[in-house]
Amino acid sequence: MSFRTLHDRGVIARYRSYLPVSENTPVISLNEGSTPLIHAPKLSARVGRGCEVFIKYEGLNPTGSFKDRGMTLALSKAIENGSKAVICASTGNTSAAAAAYAARASITCIVLLPAGKISFGKLAQAFMYGAKVVAIDGNFDDALRLVREIGETEPIAVVNSINPDRLQGQKTASFEIIEELGDAPDVHILPVGNAGNISAYWMGYEEFHSLKKSTRNPVMLGFQAAGSAPIYHNRVIEKPETVATAIRIGNPASWDKATRALQTSGGAIDIVTDEEILAAQFWLSSNEGIFVEPASAASIAGLFKSLDPAAGRAYDASRFPEGARIVCTVTGHGLKDPDVAKDQCGSVIAAKAERGEILRLIS
Ligand SMILES: *Cc1c(COP(=O)(O)O)cnc(C)c1O
Repeated sequence: MSFRTLHDRGVIARYRSYLPVSENTPVISLNEGSTPLIHAPKLSARVGRGCEVFIKYEGLNPTGSFKDRGMTLALSKAIENGSKAVICASTGNTSAAAAAYAARASITCIVLLPAGKISFGKLAQAFMYGAKVVAIDGNFDDALRLVREIGETEPIAVVNSINPDRLQGQKTASFEIIEELGDAPDVHILPVGNAGNISAYWMGYEEFHSLKKSTRNPVMLGFQAAGSAPIYHNRVIEKPETVATAIRIGNPASWDKATRALQTSGGAIDIVTDEEILAAQFWLSSNEGIFVEPASAASIAGLFKSLDPAAGRAYDASRFPEGARIVCTVTGHGLKDPDVAKDQCGSVIAAKAERGEILRLIS
């Protein structure tokens, strides 16, 4: 087996003919994608009526989030186009992915972070992958504005999701789901920040549908954090707030694309509170064994809200067809944000080094 064969399973290798690459594109890959689609029996039972819920666990990508799918494309194209450096604004996961793929490509990566608002796990990644990390006095939207300005005049590739190659790479998650289920699901639920991912999934679903690789498109349901919900409120939020830092966005870059996906699919945008997000994060870890970061848990919190007649929901889950297949994308790994998890942990149980003390814990 050649080393080349070992690298035959990244997003570009698997879906080359659907992506904007040619023979001349150097492939910068860490074997991203092909993440597990995990059946969730307890979640399915909560939905009822024979519905089946599946978790697309994007936290198992090489840097721990779905951002790797887009970054393999963005860095490969940046190298093809002769860029000498890449730059991004980030709430954390974009910078982790950009830094890792830039390290593989041997080019400089500059990341602009909103000062004090990044989880420690993600900051550690940017440093360990060798990026130049700049904390700016402002929020994510301010950082993105600055990155756009620099990208307009300098030979530096912007690798935020305003870079169309990012969404091209991210759409491959829909391809994987269709191939695994044998068709598109009935419903797809996602957290929404800059709204690039929900737009990319919709692009992937529409593309495979038009190629007759699926017989339908799913209803798309997007969930924003209540303190950072510009699409839901239909206005820019100047000072977005939420514990789910990856979706702490006040002015989404892919606003229009997402709106189109939501409308065309017959779906809806809704909000979930930080309390609901943290409760769903703990529920998913302790019931299904899947530990995700807070932003990712917004999709699970959103499913719970859609099931609750008292919740003032934007979409009523009783509209799901009987036996519906529902996919929830969980976007990033729980270990990304150890501080938030720490606040949710109970205290360690003190015990004597005795057999009886331990056996009493089994209920
Ligand atoms: C980037 C990110 C999101 C939001 O995705 P958008 O494309 O910005 O809507 C959600 N969760 C995690 C973990 C992320 O890293």
